[in-house]
Amino acid sequence: MIYDTYTLAGKRAQLVKKLSDKGITDKNILNAINTIPRHCFIDKSIVNHAYIDKALRIEKDQTISQPYTVAFQTELLDIKPKDKVLEIGTGSGYQASILAKIGAEVYSIERHKDLYISATKILKELKLKINTFYGDGFVGLQDIAPFDKILITAGAPEIPTKLLLQLKIGGVMIIPLDKGKTQQMLRIIKLSEKDFESKSFGEFSFVPMLPGKE
Ligand code: SAH
Repeated sequence: MIYDTYTLAGKRAQLVKKLSDKGITDKNILNAINTIPRHCFIDKSIVNHAYIDKALRIEKDQTISQPYTVAFQTELLDIKPKDKVLEIGTGSGYQASILAKIGAEVYSIERHKDLYISATKILKELKLKINTFYGDGFVGLQDIAPFDKILITAGAPEIPTKLLLQLKIGGVMIIPLDKGKTQQMLRIIKLSEKDFESKSFGEFSFVPMLPGKE
């Protein structure tokens, strides 16, 4: 159910201020975070925590990413209007909603059927046109490729080869790559079919990217 209150909207504005203080500068992203009701993507019992800058538990032992992480990954993607973006790990649907709000054409895959169903429902209620899929992110979406941008929102054990093939030349992949207990945030730019440029943007913590469907 979609609803908002003055108190929640006030807390949301404070969160935006905090993200800006932490170094997020893109006005479109900050505006999207100020607009999308994050409290609608989590369980009623934890609505009071919706605008704390923390990852929160959702169904199936998964998480809705920390707002700072959502903003940071989105900023690295450098979204241009109408960019065709593939997200791996729909989870709650929150990150997908931010991408859609800033003008991307979003395709998002989730391996947990229950999460896929609940995220699809909330995104529809928010009247955001996002294409959600129940499937394995390691496989991607061959029929819809190539994508301008690919965003992985789970800790990846390796760089999925099939996804690199589904990226346009000049396209960007943002991937938290396993490095012991945490992940290193990588930005990979596809320079040609064979050449890639990779840069690291620090350590983050995600739930694991797992093969297959549940
Ligand atoms: N973007 C989400 C974050 C969810 S956490 C949000 O905004 O809420 C990461 C999600 O990735 C989990 O829901 C998990 O089930 C999913 N996931 C993990 N491995 C996957 C895979 N191979 N394919 C698709 N989804 C996957």
